[in-house]
Amino acid sequence: MKAIFDPKYLLNPGVIIDVPPMDQHLRYGADYSDNTYDFVYKYRKDHSFGALVHNCSGVGACRNHVGGTMCPSFKATSNEADSTRGRANALRLAISGQLGFDGLTDPKVLDTLDLCLSCKACKSECPSNVDMAKLKSEVLQKKI
Ligand code: SF4
Repeated sequence: MKAIFDPKYLLNPGVIIDVPPMDQHLRYGADYSDNTYDFVYKYRKDHSFGALVHNCSGVGACRNHVGGTMCPSFKATSNEADSTRGRANALRLAISGQLGFDGLTDPKVLDTLDLCLSCKACKSECPSNVDMAKLKSEVLQKKI
């Protein structure tokens, strides 16, 4: 429709309309899998550590600067890595082996979790109820 009515793309320049097909640029490819670890906590409601990580749908409510509590570290730094979503993405890379051999104890994961205050605001304010404080606690127990 855009090409028919605006063949020279004069209207709304820069607005992305030619998106890739729905089966490309997916978060999880056909080969995606999580490594298995022994965890301390039980995940009765969320089933597993990985499932709790995957609860993050990437909507970005944790990048809120106005109102609410979540996420105080992102509010302070405006750095994606210091948001709940950034941390969930780091954990996803770790448990799927994309950060290398060290996985959850990779220094990059620990750096990403470092500024998390374990305030649990994400557990209540995130629409997916990602409990980063619990995830961080689990990772730190692995490091000890
Ligand atoms: S628990 Fe951590 S990730 Fe969650 S809102 Fe608090 S500081 Fe952010």
